[in-house]
Amino acid sequence: MNTRIVIDGGMGEGGGQVLRASLALSAALGKPFRMTNIRARRPKPGLKRQHLTCVRAVQTICGAKVEGDAVNSVELEFSPGAVRPGEYQFQVGTGGSVTLVLQAVVPPLLLGETPSEITVTGGTHVPYAPPFEFMRDTLFPQLARLGPQATARMDRVGYMDTGGGSVTVNITPAAVLTPFQRQEAEEFSGAEAVIYGHNLPEGIVERETTVLLAERYEPLGLTAENIRCENSLCSAASPSGSGNAVLVTVRRGESATVFGECGWRGRTAEKVARQACKRALVFMKSEAPVEEHLADQLLVPLALAGGGAFVAKRITPHARTCLDVIARFMEIKIDLAPDPVRGVRVTLERKAPRHGDAR
Ligand code: AMP
Repeated sequence: MNTRIVIDGGMGEGGGQVLRASLALSAALGKPFRMTNIRARRPKPGLKRQHLTCVRAVQTICGAKVEGDAVNSVELEFSPGAVRPGEYQFQVGTGGSVTLVLQAVVPPLLLGETPSEITVTGGTHVPYAPPFEFMRDTLFPQLARLGPQATARMDRVGYMDTGGGSVTVNITPAAVLTPFQRQEAEEFSGAEAVIYGHNLPEGIVERETTVLLAERYEPLGLTAENIRCENSLCSAASPSGSGNAVLVTVRRGESATVFGECGWRGRTAEKVARQACKRALVFMKSEAPVEEHLADQLLVPLALAGGGAFVAKRITPHARTCLDVIARFMEIKIDLAPDPVRGVRVTLERKAPRHGDAR
């Protein structure tokens, strides 16, 4: 019988990621857990609507028994059943992030024989969460290196105040996940940008375009031809509310890394666009192939694949927290080796699987 793993939700970063990583690993490995101190390091601790959607979504895909799944709850017991691929729809409500729900739901569906289709409605471009394009163009192609195929489409944009966005993900799983290697940065092969701006005061999208074309960001090669503005209020994909996001994509060889920044009242248009360009430029010049947000989002799938190695410029508190959660669920050797030029080489190597480790 599986003994229940106890996780202190206030460990490391102490936010939603401890919960999402735990849910994903629990469902994928069939291991029950109890979490205390949920989101203890956030100004308003406990389960908020978005986290509750994650709990319910993972519960649905694996028929878990759950206790403590209430708004503001700081303790949760989660006992997974077998993962059931299929067609599912989840609603975050308001502008909670759809990609963060998918961060918990996708990993358990990567392994197996039957495809899944998951639709989540909520926020597609909200602060402190992966924008839709990051998931589609940056994360999912890396998951394909493990074997499974994940594709995504956005039928409607959703911003933080009103949500209402809709994203559908199709997963063709793999019978076995292949360990992952990504240690060399490929050559820069170009950049492009998208600016989302709906129902905004006049001039915001134009001011952001001006920043993207500024001399100091010239190495990115952004031009009027490769900057696209999504501001139509007449298409089916138009959001109901107002919002703004700037996304700069850096291409290196075959891979694309999306740098997304959201606007909000009080954050100037210039700041939003500058931040996206600055991050893109730093990455473009760095020798590390894996961007730091991608690093933390790759760790759970990599652990499920039995290991792998990659180089990132730095290991963020989010990534460290993910590693700590993984170490609670699995017998895995984790090595973080400083690389004098490129950053940190992260290696995960699963020890011999124990009974119950694999589904
Ligand atoms: P948490 O703060 O615990 O809710 O976790 C936030 C998650 O969103 C982490 O996986 C971050 O890597 C990810 N994230 C936040 N901002 C971005 C961004 N601009 N691009 C991609 N991923 C992001």
